[in-house]
Amino acid sequence: MRQFFFHRGQLLGDAVRQVSWVGGTPTPPVGTALFCPLCSEVWFLAPIEGEATRVECRPCERHDAGARLGKSSLGAVSRLEPVGSVWRSWDSEWNEALPREVLKRELLLTINHYERSYHESESVFKT
Ligand SMILES: [Zn+2]
Repeated sequence: MRQFFFHRGQLLGDAVRQVSWVGGTPTPPVGTALFCPLCSEVWFLAPIEGEATRVECRPCERHDAGARLGKSSLGAVSRLEPVGSVWRSWDSEWNEALPREVLKRELLLTINHYERSYHESESVFKT
């Protein structure tokens, strides 16, 4: 089964996905559509030929859900992973299937996330 990976309609690559065994049961991979609950866009789409697609709510890179959680004494409350990331810490098969262009995007999101976090923490301690 081939899975295609699109970010905002642009094809970033594809991968061959296999049936995996979950609890002794053969389980086919599932297509994924990431829906931003803040702008109502499907911003990342990874369908699999002939298989169903599951919709997940995840804020896109244009909308920081953490900003809506308020601020603590150390700055804005934010999620652990960069906003706009498609990484799944609980799904190694998904992560391993991500094509090169998706991984490059993840790397840039992560670098930008930690640079922004670093500068925010610097400004907190300068007061
Ligand atoms: Zn959004």
